[in-house]
Amino acid sequence: MGKGFFEVPIAVNEPVWGYAPGSPERQTVSDTYKEMYNSTIDVPLYINGEHISTGNTATMSPPHDHQHVLGSYHKAEKSHIEQAIATALEARKKWAQMPWEQRAAIFLRAAELIAGPYRAKINAATMLAQSKTIHQAEIDAACELIDFLRFNVQFMTEIYHEQPESTSGAWNRLEYRPLEGFIYAITPFNFTAISANLPASAALMGNVVVWKPSDSQVYSAKVILDVFKEAGVPPGVINMVMGDPVMITDTVLASPDFSGLHFTGSTHVFKDIWQKIGTNIHNYKTYPRIVGETGGKDFIVAHKSSNPKQVATAIARGAFEFQGQKCSAASRCYISKSIWNDVEKHLKADLASFTMGSPEDMSNFITAVIHEGSFDKLASYIDGAKADANAEIVAGGNYDKSKGYFIEPTVIKTNDPKYTTMCTELFGPVVTIYVFEDDAWEETLHLVDETSEYALTGAVFSEDRYELEKGIKILENAAGNFYVNDKPTGAVVGQQPFGGARASGTNDKAGSKLNLYRWVSPRMIKETFVSPTDYRYPFLG
Ligand code: NAD
Repeated sequence: MGKGFFEVPIAVNEPVWGYAPGSPERQTVSDTYKEMYNSTIDVPLYINGEHISTGNTATMSPPHDHQHVLGSYHKAEKSHIEQAIATALEARKKWAQMPWEQRAAIFLRAAELIAGPYRAKINAATMLAQSKTIHQAEIDAACELIDFLRFNVQFMTEIYHEQPESTSGAWNRLEYRPLEGFIYAITPFNFTAISANLPASAALMGNVVVWKPSDSQVYSAKVILDVFKEAGVPPGVINMVMGDPVMITDTVLASPDFSGLHFTGSTHVFKDIWQKIGTNIHNYKTYPRIVGETGGKDFIVAHKSSNPKQVATAIARGAFEFQGQKCSAASRCYISKSIWNDVEKHLKADLASFTMGSPEDMSNFITAVIHEGSFDKLASYIDGAKADANAEIVAGGNYDKSKGYFIEPTVIKTNDPKYTTMCTELFGPVVTIYVFEDDAWEETLHLVDETSEYALTGAVFSEDRYELEKGIKILENAAGNFYVNDKPTGAVVGQQPFGGARASGTNDKAGSKLNLYRWVSPRMIKETFVSPTDYRYPFLG
């Protein structure tokens, strides 16, 4: 910054639009959906500001309508990845020197493009690619993404303001340099906002990025790319590559200039990548930063004093919105015996009222799961529960993939608190209930803590403050995002920084300053105004 201490606009959360029947926004997004559904797109690689078609393509289809083709995307060869790395490093020469207010302006502009002219398009793309209802698309692709961009700009300036003390004789300055090298962003299918944020947050701090979106999200990733381009992200700063994840990752990790991983996805993939980074450690010019947010086995535990209707609503929303495909989705619930009958009654009534189908029909609450692999896995766990003496299907249990990958929201009840669906992340609309004796509250809290390798989100319900306090204490390390008398999903940028520990990730809290610190390497500059000319100190006489 040359000529002023600039203040950025104060970040505020983007209001969530309602899309009620008859509203103009509902009409616009509906028209956009139809238009996009009835046309096809071609998504090339994006390297150094150029679109590169490789001819080696894969098709894209909506999960709720898998025979319909939305278009195709191009897959990279190894040489394309090497080219993306080389051009990113070349772009770094200018980008890392760009005054921060210019970087801020680009990403604030991206936020406004999404809030305005791109809102319907990015929502419709997310409905088509990831089968989100309009509400789920709006809170992800529009609002959360806008919030990430606006808040991160503000957090960046807060970090830059953090400076050491100085004296009259020496001025101490901290410079928050981008990492030396390039960042590799690998993004999941389930949030358009995460897909954009992982490359954008690193680039905002002055880094250059090779970004690999999920195969199942390329369609909406293309809209993000269009927004970045229009907002003015210069060529080479964010390069988007698709294709074989192992080949791409191995090529990236082989580069001595690899300086950071920004990953969101499943735990085993993250652990494998971490191991590869360790194997290559002697080749790198700098120690790579490793940031990964991964799986969860998120819980709701309800004390006998809690309100059954509130608990049932938390399960209905927390376990089934977006078909349970949120990393934060409740998937194991521990309910006190004396309230279970009421919870069950309300939950069954809620499930009976759910409608399932295409997100184009906006009265649907449930749509399809992401792909056939996920469908088959979920169906096999449901079949397993049907056949197991330790499990009982309380609601749902049907599935059908003839048109789309539809799994009926399913509630399994088990007598075995370590039953497989109480421990394994399924990532779908299946929740398992364990009913505990009313006097086994403390014991159950320890069970919740010890059952899963994950520690992402969790919720405790109780109207008794002493028992609530026990829950908060005993479950201290069981969740990075902990909810009291609320569902464990729906974190909002700037309000509930998000991330988990244990096997769930490095807990660097997306949507907060903590995450941005990982993408800078501070340089301390001490300037002495009048340098000494005699080495002798007074004590020498
Ligand atoms: P995934 O692990 O299948 O894929 C994530 C990304 O990794 C994709 O881009 C994929 O192509 C890539 N990938 C897959 N195999 C790879 C390999 N061998 N080497 C390198 N890259 C590889 O996950 P997903 O199905 O897209 O997303 C769901 C998972 O993400 C769930 O486990 C969920 O809990 C997790 N998730 C976590 C958070 C969080 O904040 N903790 C947020 C969203 C999703």
